[in-house]
Amino acid sequence: MRRTLCVAVAMLASLAGVLVPAGPAQAGGILAGKVVGIDPGHNGRNYTSPSFLAKQVWNGRAWEDCDTTGTQTRGGYTEHAFNWAVANYLAQKLRAAGATVVWTRSSDTGLGPCVDQRARLLNHGHANISIDIHADGGPTTGRGFAILLPVADGPNNGVIKSSVRFGGYLRSRMIGMAGMPVSTYDGTNGLAYRRDLAGLNLTTEPKVLIECGNMRNSTDAKLLGSKAWQLKAADAMASAIVKMLVG
Ligand SMILES: [Zn+2]
Repeated sequence: MRRTLCVAVAMLASLAGVLVPAGPAQAGGILAGKVVGIDPGHNGRNYTSPSFLAKQVWNGRAWEDCDTTGTQTRGGYTEHAFNWAVANYLAQKLRAAGATVVWTRSSDTGLGPCVDQRARLLNHGHANISIDIHADGGPTTGRGFAILLPVADGPNNGVIKSSVRFGGYLRSRMIGMAGMPVSTYDGTNGLAYRRDLAGLNLTTEPKVLIECGNMRNSTDAKLLGSKAWQLKAADAMASAIVKMLVG
């Protein structure tokens, strides 16, 4: 019975978003019946295949690279590892509140998928809301987080207003709960509208992409590398998602 269930879940996962790590939603939580999409940016073995990363994919407006390796701190802490850690903390919190989580990758040791496929995995996983988690590689003197918002382009037309509202909730919580300042170099007051990203152009559910901080800045890098801060950032994200889904 249990094996049959696992096979069924694995089949569903291949059809929809990836469901990992194994862990059911907790029954009866405030997010019961809700599906949240999480896209931890990049992947641990992206660096092994420049040709895979250079593959051109359609982002809804233009062709762009499949993906990049992501950035890293001066100390060598990689963005893909940071994204993966925060994504897992966020998933734990969401599942504890009863949500089902769909993912774009099942480990931090793989290659891909490309950014257009990531958007499709979350769309096809019937996410009620999604978040792309990243950290930036900005100028070393620049600090802070930026929340990237979609611009209407067809596929995402129905979720622009809700995505902007989500971005506002997330911004206030990143300041108040995580104590990260808004970016000094990207966007306006922590928000930036972007029309060049597949994850935002192709989404059919409310979604934002967060650059949690600047890995190239030593002050931000200390925070980004700390488990305590990663948990706070996950709290801020979970709180904004709960606000969006249940008010
Ligand atoms: Zn990134």
